Amino acid sequence: MDKHVTAAFDSEEKTMSINIKKIGVIGAGQMGSGIAHVCAQAGYDVHMLDISEDAIAAGMDKIKKGMARQVSRSELSEADADAAMKHITTGTDYAGFGDCDFVVEAASEDEDVKKAILKQLCPVLREDALIASNTSSISITRLGAQTDRPGKFLGMHFMNPVPRMELVELIRGIATDEDTYSAIRELAAKLGKKSVNAEDFPAFIVNRILLPMINEAVYTLYEGVGSVEAIDTSMKLGTHHPMGPLELADFIGLDTCLAVMHVLHDGLADTKYRPCPLLVKYVEAGWLGRKTGRGFYDYSGDVPVPTR
Ligand code: NAD
Repeated sequence: MDKHVTAAFDSEEKTMSINIKKIGVIGAGQMGSGIAHVCAQAGYDVHMLDISEDAIAAGMDKIKKGMARQVSRSELSEADADAAMKHITTGTDYAGFGDCDFVVEAASEDEDVKKAILKQLCPVLREDALIASNTSSISITRLGAQTDRPGKFLGMHFMNPVPRMELVELIRGIATDEDTYSAIRELAAKLGKKSVNAEDFPAFIVNRILLPMINEAVYTLYEGVGSVEAIDTSMKLGTHHPMGPLELADFIGLDTCLAVMHVLHDGLADTKYRPCPLLVKYVEAGWLGRKTGRGFYDYSGDVPVPTR
């Protein structure tokens, strides 16, 4: 099967085409490692960057464990897992993106961090390379304006965990070219994902709906309406959600949840999006959920224990 995507670009009079073979990923956290995982598994060469070798090692370990899990479930052969791992190179230097056809930014949900990354990235990229941000909430138009190629920039919002979740939201900034959009829609399909179009409004579709629910669950805890266990059990058994909202918040990362609520609150200027003070406190304490071992649950033992 041809794993590569061909996109046509009408640039002035001449038509250029890009054949996506090598994909760059910025950030080796939960999302970056997941994106690198699915791209490598689909046969693309991948280059993954983070700010430290420790962060890269943790990301590579996550990919290795994720593929081992797929092998144990007979979803992937050992030979294919080994071949996929060989597709991934890593580094802390942007020069590694020089031969990439497409780069996905998946660093922390902080607009200043993302803007600084895009400023560093553009000068090393080929002129025809495309860029996406995996941001959960930040304006694609604003991020695209930081680049030297807003027409070749869009939002490609994967879901967590990337290897398991079927959806990708695709978001055009005001300047995004149609060719860019269709090339990345085709790429999403090659990665086995179903894509939906979302307009460039704060938090797009999924998080516009999901995060206010999570924030409301934190208010429900904050006001003492129910315990962590009561809230999560209510939503699992009462509405058939596979995870309770507080368990899901820990899974997403409480820093990411808070950042999305700030973007909704600032961007839509409606008090209904006010982040719950308890969520703010947890983030201030460094209790970010699963990734730091403590959030609404304590993950230090064999089973997660509710903290309230
Ligand atoms: P994470 O905290 O697991 O990982 C973030 C990574 O970015 C870390 O490894 C960090 O070292 C790295 N980083 C920070 N600053 C950097 C820089 N200047 N250069 C390179 N790397 C840098 O966070 P995550 O959950 O992987 O989220 C990453 C992005 O994906 C965010 O924009 C988030 O909103 C989005 N997202 C998250 C989820 C989710 O459920 N967690 C889902 C979809 C999208």
